[in-house]
Amino acid sequence: MRKCEVAVLGLGLMGGAALGALLEAGVDALGFDPVAAGSDRGSSHGSCRIFRRFNFENPNYTGLSDEAHAGWIRLQAESGQTVLTETPILEAGRPGSAMVASSRAAAIATGRPDPMMTAAVANKEFPAFNLPDDWDVVVQDGGAILHTATVMKLMRSCAANRVIPERASFTPRHDGVSIRTASEEFFAERAILALGPWLGRALPQLTPLLNVTRQAVGWFKPARPETVALGRFPIFILDRGPDNIVYGFPDFERRGVKAAPHNHGPVVGPDDWGPPATDAELRPIGEALAALVPGAAGPIVDRDVCLYTNTAPADIRLDAGDEFIIDRWPESRLIVCSACSGHGAKFAPAIGQRLARLATDPSYQAEPFFQLSRYSQFA
Ligand SMILES: Cc1cc2nc3c(=O)[nH]c(=O)nc-3n(C[C@H](O)[C@H](O)[C@H](O)COP(=O)(O)OP(=O)(O)OC[C@H]3O[C@@H](n4cnc5c(N)ncnc54)[C@H](O)[C@@H]3O)c2cc1C
Repeated sequence: MRKCEVAVLGLGLMGGAALGALLEAGVDALGFDPVAAGSDRGSSHGSCRIFRRFNFENPNYTGLSDEAHAGWIRLQAESGQTVLTETPILEAGRPGSAMVASSRAAAIATGRPDPMMTAAVANKEFPAFNLPDDWDVVVQDGGAILHTATVMKLMRSCAANRVIPERASFTPRHDGVSIRTASEEFFAERAILALGPWLGRALPQLTPLLNVTRQAVGWFKPARPETVALGRFPIFILDRGPDNIVYGFPDFERRGVKAAPHNHGPVVGPDDWGPPATDAELRPIGEALAALVPGAAGPIVDRDVCLYTNTAPADIRLDAGDEFIIDRWPESRLIVCSACSGHGAKFAPAIGQRLARLATDPSYQAEPFFQLSRYSQFA
């Protein structure tokens, strides 16, 4: 039986970052994942994600963004490949938008100048937009296109022969964790479960706290390509009312403008990666672009589906849900990670460090708002 100090099950962005942190620290670690980098499965797949310094979801995340940013810059310097492409972030919404107000407050809290601007100025500066005059608008620096396909490949190639490209099952033992693949058996002193949407299946006690939803993504042929080119056009997030947020990217790949509704789709299972996004699912995005970003509007030229895994609202240390779980699993040598909602990717280097420390430093705890004890069933 092969042995290691730490096994990492799941090598999406979170497990991949954890494995990298462990190997860099000289830990005898192995990673397991049947899905190769570049596949269209797993919540980390695809070419890009948004990196934001100022997070409307929670001001706690500014420090985490800064920590992750340093990690991304280091990966970029060491690999010589483009990991982040700095791009302003335009966030806009109906008057009084809580999203815009929270993003603005997060920037001001760090001593940054007020990022607020009028819709008229934003429309002039970025002529692809047609934002209504009375909308609240902020344009934030500290944003970037995170090139996740590049990152996934780099993480796998850095870990090289420490990756077992197979599905793994696990059995907790008093002294460690038995791990089994189709071809081999392993023993790890500790195991990190970074299974994205599959986490609830691996730990059924978590199933009621994890909500896996289907998210449709489209690429639109821009009506005015010059207005949406990289360098001329920001990443955008538009709050159109309750549960109606649309986001998108500059056309940095010459594949069209990637745009999607945030957090909208039906509850599905972790293996439900089909069918491809339908015209009906993408129609509201096309309509939002036509009304608010006419320079980016046009026919659908490509489509994708991805899965969010959102946590339920906590009942002890109150939160509104959609936060992360980064903690030790009770009475075991397991560490669990659920950072698979719609904004986890950008934090992967910082989350990977936390997972590695949870596995190797008994005195370490992640921040209270990541801990399982915020839920009464784990308190
Ligand atoms: C449409 C969409 C848009 C998003 N946009 C953004 C954004 O703009 N900015 C941002 O920061 N975040 C964004 N996110 C969120 C971000 O992508 C996720 O938070 C992140 O990818 C989650 O990574 P993960 O490693 O937790 O999960 P995953 O990438 O799903 O990794 C889990 C891995 O576990 C593996 N696995 C499953 N079972 C086993 C097993 N038994 N043995 C071994 N391996 C197993 C799977 O193959 C998979 O590779 C978005 C997500 C989606 C879906």
